[in-house]
Amino acid sequence: MAHIAFFNFPAIGHVNPTLGVVEELVARGHRVTCTATDHFVPAIKAVGATPVRYTSPFGEFYRSPYNEETMAGEGLRCLEEAIALHEQVSGYYGDDRPDVVVHDFMAWGARFYAAQHSLPAVRLFPSYGVSETFNISEKFPLAAPDDPKVLEMAQKLVELLPSFNLPPDIGAFMGHVEKLGIIFLPREFHFDGDTFDDRFVFAGPCLGDRSAFQGSWEPASADRPVLLISLGTAATGWPEFFPLALEAFGDSEWHVVMAVGDHIDPADLKSIPANFEVRRHVPQLDVLQHARVFLTHAGMNSTMESLYYGVPMVAVPQMNEQRANAVRVEELGLGRHLPREEVTVESLRQAVDSVAADSGIAERVQRMRDDMRKVNGPAVAAGA
Ligand code: UDP
Repeated sequence: MAHIAFFNFPAIGHVNPTLGVVEELVARGHRVTCTATDHFVPAIKAVGATPVRYTSPFGEFYRSPYNEETMAGEGLRCLEEAIALHEQVSGYYGDDRPDVVVHDFMAWGARFYAAQHSLPAVRLFPSYGVSETFNISEKFPLAAPDDPKVLEMAQKLVELLPSFNLPPDIGAFMGHVEKLGIIFLPREFHFDGDTFDDRFVFAGPCLGDRSAFQGSWEPASADRPVLLISLGTAATGWPEFFPLALEAFGDSEWHVVMAVGDHIDPADLKSIPANFEVRRHVPQLDVLQHARVFLTHAGMNSTMESLYYGVPMVAVPQMNEQRANAVRVEELGLGRHLPREEVTVESLRQAVDSVAADSGIAERVQRMRDDMRKVNGPAVAAGA
């Protein structure tokens, strides 16, 4: 039995894909600890691991308004988070060192901890992998590399690295390849998937039962096709989207389940048509099992989950990684990319109806679903 320490990045879309793997490792008899802000404690407990509580400068979980100005400052915020994580978690473990550190690629505090104590580490990619030759932010940049905030973060990080026995080299830190990297995507979805060698494992989505901390959902009746609408949990910068969606699909043939997250208070939406269910948060995996189309911000988890349940997408992305996903979805014929600046009542309706009616998309999505289901992601990842 090993002590396996997961260091999470406190974002719902980063923690969710780890849960199936943690559950599998616990079932195999390992002692698993997972860093968690209060928000994630029930999810960690539900999969049988011990939560290592800490306080994050992000609050309960990561959110971002995703406008250009704040984007450039995200690196600085991630560094603050890394320092807080390292400090508090080092205190928790003391001399009870884990045998292996398994860390989200953005949980830099884990890299500090593993390097400081010379522990073996595994890097997790809930989104695209990073190798010597591939980094999605080169194709889809998050912020200008010479933005003063980006440079400030780089300077601070470089000054800090030697105190953890790491070389003062930002490129080496960001592009570091561990002995093992686990990517929660199928290789065929990944851009340049063939360029990743056997240091990487493509586990695909690792979905577990979330009912213990999220409740469940069933359609009230089977009469109408279900349309799921969500912009995810992290991006909160587009509240104007939801009234457009209400107008586009109100009184239509669809039964619409719309999760508004922290973008707005559902009570502030003026009149909600009878064919809409509006909530802050829905058990997304349950809804997807009944959905005909997913109108999504194309976060990586939402994209993977949609494919896993064979649901074609209309993707309305807001930031770099989501745009990459939307482009990939359209390129592979799994749905449509509707750029944010083209979103209107009419274009939403047209995009959803055309995707719903497209038999080619339906076929390709079904094939991707079948291929994904041939891989037991949690077993593959835990085994690796
Ligand atoms: N999610 C959910 N209910 C909601 C909204 C989101 O269960 O109402 C889950 C969703 O299933 C996914 C995660 O939250 O696992 C969102 O991750 P994603 O990468 O799609 O987007 P992010 O929130 O990180 O932008």
